[in-house]
Amino acid sequence: MPSIQERQVVRPHGFAYLSKRHDGRKSGAKLVLYGEGVPLTNLAGKYGTPLYAYSSAMIRERFQTFDQAFADVPHTICYSVKANSNLSILRMLAKLGCGFDVVSGGELERVLKADRKASRKVVFSGVGKTRPEMISALKGGILLFNVESEAELSALSACAARVRKKAPIAFRVNPDVAANTHPYISTGLHKHKFGVPIREARALYSKAAGDKNLSVRGVSVHIGSQITDVSPFGEAISRVADFISQLRNDGHQIDYIDAGGGLGIPYEGPQAESFADRVGSYANAIIKPIRGLGLHLLLEPGRSIIGPAGVLLTTLLYRKRNESKQFLVVDAAMNDLVRPALYGAHHEILPVVKPEMISMETADVVGPICESGDFLARDRQLPVLPEGSLLAVLDTGAYGYVLSSNYNTRPRPAEILVTGKSVKVIRRREKVSDLMRAEL
Ligand SMILES: *Cc1c(COP(=O)(O)O)cnc(C)c1O
Repeated sequence: MPSIQERQVVRPHGFAYLSKRHDGRKSGAKLVLYGEGVPLTNLAGKYGTPLYAYSSAMIRERFQTFDQAFADVPHTICYSVKANSNLSILRMLAKLGCGFDVVSGGELERVLKADRKASRKVVFSGVGKTRPEMISALKGGILLFNVESEAELSALSACAARVRKKAPIAFRVNPDVAANTHPYISTGLHKHKFGVPIREARALYSKAAGDKNLSVRGVSVHIGSQITDVSPFGEAISRVADFISQLRNDGHQIDYIDAGGGLGIPYEGPQAESFADRVGSYANAIIKPIRGLGLHLLLEPGRSIIGPAGVLLTTLLYRKRNESKQFLVVDAAMNDLVRPALYGAHHEILPVVKPEMISMETADVVGPICESGDFLARDRQLPVLPEGSLLAVLDTGAYGYVLSSNYNTRPRPAEILVTGKSVKVIRRREKVSDLMRAEL
């Protein structure tokens, strides 16, 4: 039996290099990247690559850290399902007492499949809810609709009348606050399609209050994603808090303030601040403007809960040099992880087995897809690795699998959930026949 001595080197929770020492010999110990108690080499060996692996301890810990940061105020965390919607992950979060933020009827179905009693903790966001989606959400008895336009309000009222329910609503207001993030994931300015301008919202609240099919419950805001400076959150919540006072003066009963999601994670470089500290500053920024207002706070974190809890494993297929440019062709591609191609996003890439002699090179890590945009990293400093090496693309728990596609008729990877030394396949690898099933 191999005896495994474990020594933590980096990334204390979830994914860390540990020394895998066979036969108790001191020499020949290799540093291998583990997911909790499981060497990632074992996962790749058993399930193949590309492969998504998640640490359940890390998901649990991050949810609890987030929850504790808001312990001072009545609150409900509504995990943003679009960040990672795997049923096993939703079920695990539901068991921890988490609620959910959904942006489609499909996501609502997933949540109810994961936990059929979850609907009283579900908020429904999105700029283009359809009538059938509204009707399922009304029948399910969700907590709150975040309404984004006057036209949507009328549609929701008609749907509520049809199913003889009162729709609980908040307007998603646009606070006109710049979030300083990637333009595609910034949402809180006039020029974005999201929310109603805070100045026009007052009239809409009066309209909603006069509608017997609707029940005004709150105000919501979401200014974007991957926001690492907490001050825009504080600014947005201050504006919403002022607006709530105005609404209360107008005679509306406002119980909920929904602060949205968007707290960023450090994808790159040394991680100076712990998650607890960062989420602590975020909580301070949000709580300060609403203290004493007697509001129930809703939060919709996605990335900050699940992002660092996942890795994408991929195998180096070919080393290739075009004149001065070094390419590492791997078996994962933009269809498996689109963030680098879509946002120019940075993901750290580590060799799963740390090479003993480290000489470095600068290379582009690219996939097999027929697009020049198909890269996982560009001009990246990496240790020189032989073909067949296993690589881990870090922080891919959020907006990884959910944004994957079947482009180039590539079956999507399996997803694995690691808990201590136990391993569970939470989604099997697709087959080409799965991809053709719906075609006539
Ligand atoms: C995407 C989204 C979230 C989650 O954003 P994260 O950056 O993943 O925390 C929350 N609320 C709404 C309305 C969203 O669209």
